[in-house]
Amino acid sequence: MILSAKKKFGQNFLVDQNIVNKILDTLQPEINDTFLEIGGGTGSITLPLQEKVSELNVVEIDERMIKFLCTKAKNNLNLFNQDALKFDLKKITEKKHLLRVVGNLPYNISTPLIFHLLKQRSLIKDMHFMLQKEVVDRIVASPGTKKYGRLSIMISIFCEKIACFNVSPNSFKPIPKIWSTFIKLNISRKNKYNIYNLNNFEYLVKFVFSMRRKTLGRSLKNIMEEKDFISVDIDPKLRPENLEVSSFVKLSNYLYELNK
Ligand code: SAH
Repeated sequence: MILSAKKKFGQNFLVDQNIVNKILDTLQPEINDTFLEIGGGTGSITLPLQEKVSELNVVEIDERMIKFLCTKAKNNLNLFNQDALKFDLKKITEKKHLLRVVGNLPYNISTPLIFHLLKQRSLIKDMHFMLQKEVVDRIVASPGTKKYGRLSIMISIFCEKIACFNVSPNSFKPIPKIWSTFIKLNISRKNKYNIYNLNNFEYLVKFVFSMRRKTLGRSLKNIMEEKDFISVDIDPKLRPENLEVSSFVKLSNYLYELNK
């Protein structure tokens, strides 16, 4: 069966067997693992993975792909014709192991999807994504670099991050304009940081990075005085990109206490 790629679903199918093998090597699937694949497509990851695990769930928005995968399915494959951005993991995790997630994600939904999954992190063990290289660079960026920002910080709060390998555009069909990188995110089981209020933390990070060229002293001038900066031991002349995650935690906890 020949299925044409639909741009609106961000379809770039993986056609390079070496890359499929590298993905499986990274996943190290065990027979008792419960997997969730986002966007099965024509099955380049789905079909070899279903041979190795006891349960593979696939969420795929395109009905044509679901029909195609149905013809190849073994009885450990559960197909869901749904939008992954709205998918509730509880549907598949009741009384089971923590989920392992994998996906060659459509680039247009990758960031919101990662945030959607992070909200359900208590049900997840690890996540593996093929992403635009530029997005992975931002996820793994260190403080003091141009790419460090909201994405790096929010993912650091919940995950250990490992950029695994880069993938050339030629490994996909149709050939995209960008390079990709495969990344592994291990959900941290213990809280690395003691954040008093996660919503406040997220808001603060978003707020200061919406003015990333401004010093913290300037962007927070309505809520922080010099003495407040002294209390949290943060130099108000710094820009947000110079602040470690732990300093953002300190700042957000301080503001939370101040406004309680
Ligand atoms: N895993 C396949 C396909 C990757 S292309 C491969 O590696 O070859 C991305 C896939 O995600 C497509 O099959 C597309 O239909 C699907 N997709 C796009 N948006 C989606 C969404 N919101 N929810 C679920 N699947 C989606």
